[in-house]
Amino acid sequence: MYDLLVIGGGPAGYTAALSGARAGLRVALIEQLSPGGQMTETQQIDNYPGFDEGVDGFTLGFKMQAGAERFGAETVAAQVLSVDFTASPKRVVTDSGALFARAVVVATGATHRHLGLAEEAALLGKGVGYCAACDGMLFRGKTVAVVGGGNSAAADALLLSKLCKEVYLIHRRDTLRAEKVYHTPLAQAENIHFKWNATVKALLHGDKLTGVLLENKDGTEETLALDGLFISIGRTPVTSLFRGILDLDEEGYIIAGEDTKTNIPGVFAAGDVRKKPFRQIVTAAADGAVAAYFAEAYLAEQGEA
Ligand code: NAP
Repeated sequence: MYDLLVIGGGPAGYTAALSGARAGLRVALIEQLSPGGQMTETQQIDNYPGFDEGVDGFTLGFKMQAGAERFGAETVAAQVLSVDFTASPKRVVTDSGALFARAVVVATGATHRHLGLAEEAALLGKGVGYCAACDGMLFRGKTVAVVGGGNSAAADALLLSKLCKEVYLIHRRDTLRAEKVYHTPLAQAENIHFKWNATVKALLHGDKLTGVLLENKDGTEETLALDGLFISIGRTPVTSLFRGILDLDEEGYIIAGEDTKTNIPGVFAAGDVRKKPFRQIVTAAADGAVAAYFAEAYLAEQGEA
């Protein structure tokens, strides 16, 4: 029996666990993979304060875990199967058994959006990937493409341009969504080639990916021979467990204000899983601290903290 259960071990989750534990709450955090969440896919994080040389996502994740555990937060390595937030205490069922708590912070983050093409899942790890920072090394000296026009696609293309022979950036419009800071380095990288107004219509393959069929805005098609394709078209929230339980917006993000309070008293949503305008590690961490603050206040109101 815990005061506070945190679901998800990214920056929001571990900051909630740290803040709750420092406030004297009995806290457990449930994480199914390694600490850090989406951060673990980033080799160089320069926009989280306190690291003058930047930091890699794995290191930052483990530091966040260690920081929370220093104050007594426990990490439970398990997968959450179902939740009952209306029960008292609230119940979270995992593949290692049920856990109970008086308050819960949901910090399950978001995961990669898929193009939805035939064979996309089957070719994962066979030329198709979603994480250039994780798998880029496999394509050293080869020809790859990145799909997308946001900050992630821009960062992926730049990373890959340092490893690969040629990098194509395939974007469905003729202007990038990525912030200006990326535009000049992308334009200056001699081995990055833009494919504007183009979408991937089909994945070409034998046992592994051999290329893509592109459809241009004017209706013409072209084949691009590739060794690898990184799909970097945004994210979807990890909220299927909470559908019908917590209020979600049309994209599946949990509806909660800056106070992180959901529609169920004692349940808070922190980080990328929450409907919010700006998602960064630092804003996720801030959410975690806010969620722990209101969880503590909730428990005090209940006379249980
Ligand atoms: P994003 O900003 O939502 O951009 C997604 C991109 O993929 C857009 O260019 C979009 O095209 C394109 N796209 C979406 N669905 C598509 C489809 N079905 N087919 C083809 N293209 C598609 O996502 P993100 O780049 O992953 O970034 C997510 C969040 O993380 C953002 O808030 C971003 O700022 C943040 N982030 C920040 C940094 C940083 O601060 N350095 C680095 C990485 C990510 P349209 O432009 O036409 O919509």
